[in-house]
Amino acid sequence: MHVQRKTISANVGITGIGLHSGIYTKVELLPARAGSGITFVRSDLDGLRIAALQASTTALDHATTVGKDDVSVGTVEHLLAALAACGITDLDILIDGPEVPIVDGSALPCMHLIAAAGVKQLGVTVPVLRISQPIELVDGDKSIRIVPANRLHIKYRIDFDHSAIGREAFHFDFHQDNFLRKIAPARTFGFMRDVEKLRAAGLARGGSVENCIVLDDDGVVNGPLRFRDEFVRHKILDLIGDLALLGRPIVGEITANRAGHAMHSRFVEKILATTAMTEDAATVGAPGRTLESFA
Ligand SMILES: [Zn+2]
Repeated sequence: MHVQRKTISANVGITGIGLHSGIYTKVELLPARAGSGITFVRSDLDGLRIAALQASTTALDHATTVGKDDVSVGTVEHLLAALAACGITDLDILIDGPEVPIVDGSALPCMHLIAAAGVKQLGVTVPVLRISQPIELVDGDKSIRIVPANRLHIKYRIDFDHSAIGREAFHFDFHQDNFLRKIAPARTFGFMRDVEKLRAAGLARGGSVENCIVLDDDGVVNGPLRFRDEFVRHKILDLIGDLALLGRPIVGEITANRAGHAMHSRFVEKILATTAMTEDAATVGAPGRTLESFA
């Protein structure tokens, strides 16, 4: 199973504050040639290039960071999720600072940005990653598992000890329109009780009621929610962004329980390690078969 490699048709840009660093950055999306992959380019540091791949991940505290040497780009997951949903495989992401702007906390602004740029097929295909056997990670009451399937389907369950969240579950069929309507608008969220601790650790410095759902002990401070179950939908958004670090589209049925960035990342590593061992003609094969509707 293969899909078309895609980039964008025109340069587009966005500016804003980073959720964790509190630093304002300018991001520009530039078309890239087929096969180059998705790359962050630090325009403030002589164009240092950091591949948007699992091998580049450096930190996973409350967001996903990619880096090279001492240089990094943080909170990449919402932008990468939007790119994955639009089927973008090749793109240069110029950024003049250490963190992707959080904008409104969701992936909707990124979806609008990609729509404004236009999506262009590159006339080359990329093999879809199909696992041949179940892959699972379990850590106490947290788990994540993928079983073979012909499309990407995600079942996510969360259980927070908070009256506004509690138990939520969502089943999502990965498809661009579905993503735009059901997942992209779901915003990141944070708890007032954690703010001091996070800021002391250099996190959440750009967080505000403008860019995330803020919860205090009584409930949501800056309602209304965009969805009754916005929290679990955002976890699916994060997972799609973290899966993008595989470097190519994946199909399978994923079941996640109470996971998060750190577990998503270990899961991506396990998928890569497992497929590296088993990858053969059966996995990469069937040349010429394209699945146009994948994204
Ligand atoms: Zn997120």
